[in-house]
Amino acid sequence: MELIDGNQVATTLIAELKAEVAQATGRKPCLALIRVGEDPASVSYVRKKEKTAEEIGIISRVILPPVTITQAELLALVDELNADPTVDGILVQSPLPKQIDELAVFRRVSPEKDVDGFHTINLGKVAQEDESGFVSCTPAGIMELLKRSQVDLKGKHVVVLGRSLIVGKPAALLALQKKAGANATVTICHSGTRDLPALTRQADVLIAAIGRPEFVTADMVKPGVVIIDVGVNRVPDSTKKTGYRLTGDVHFPTVSPLASKITPVPGGVGPMTVAMLMKNTVKAFRQHS
Ligand code: NAP
Repeated sequence: MELIDGNQVATTLIAELKAEVAQATGRKPCLALIRVGEDPASVSYVRKKEKTAEEIGIISRVILPPVTITQAELLALVDELNADPTVDGILVQSPLPKQIDELAVFRRVSPEKDVDGFHTINLGKVAQEDESGFVSCTPAGIMELLKRSQVDLKGKHVVVLGRSLIVGKPAALLALQKKAGANATVTICHSGTRDLPALTRQADVLIAAIGRPEFVTADMVKPGVVIIDVGVNRVPDSTKKTGYRLTGDVHFPTVSPLASKITPVPGGVGPMTVAMLMKNTVKAFRQHS
């Protein structure tokens, strides 16, 4: 079994981006990060994004509206950033408070600044295989990890667990694209799937993105499978100072011996998501310059 080291791949990618940004004369790329409220996971995600941006030489502008912000106020803030020529990328950290229609906010971000890749236009471009758009960061990170781990999907059966707009669906579309590295036969499973283990057992490559701790067990995979575990789940653990431990959607101790390659949690897909956000920001900067 070979461990797919997301930290290592992300470090390489970040170094490549840093070298590219260093060559830019004049203005540096700028990423606007909107974080509404004090959700602990969001605080730590935005801090990580800010830190990585700084490492690369990307200016980050963090905006922290109160949790009571109205839909109209948040849309107005997005409009302001859309119109600001010094801002290349805009990210609105999810989850948003209950009074906000998240999809409406994602759709308000200008497609040219939508470095999270959640806008209808950018998801459409993934389906149309139009490379001018922005691919959402986690699925883009999955493809980059596979590529840099020499996993060619051509002709393989890729089974994706989960059909969310930010992970499952775009990941399936990317694997399906008719281009080098992709060209897979794809099955998508969800909560309505009948006999899910019968499908996962057929997978040459299994992408697990359902948010259920250690859901995939040894009896659900075939020997030699490549596994990308997207899940980030907090499981109570009294032996930890924090009171919890992080686990993926795959039961790593029993499944990993069967896999040819597998991502750990943490240290697999997570670091790639941040690195791909930076890659998208540098791409937006290039397109705006
Ligand atoms: P989500 O929006 O909650 O979607 C979960 C998907 O899994 C849904 O399509 C759901 O089916 C399906 N599902 C849930 N329980 C299932 C079950 N028992 N059997 C079959 N399908 C089931 O989640 P998400 O945003 O895609 O995230 C998935 C996981 O990835 C989470 O753990 C999240 O924390 C993690 N994540 C990690 C990163 C990273 O950077 N590492 C980034 C994003 C997300 P239905 O559609 O039928 O409801």
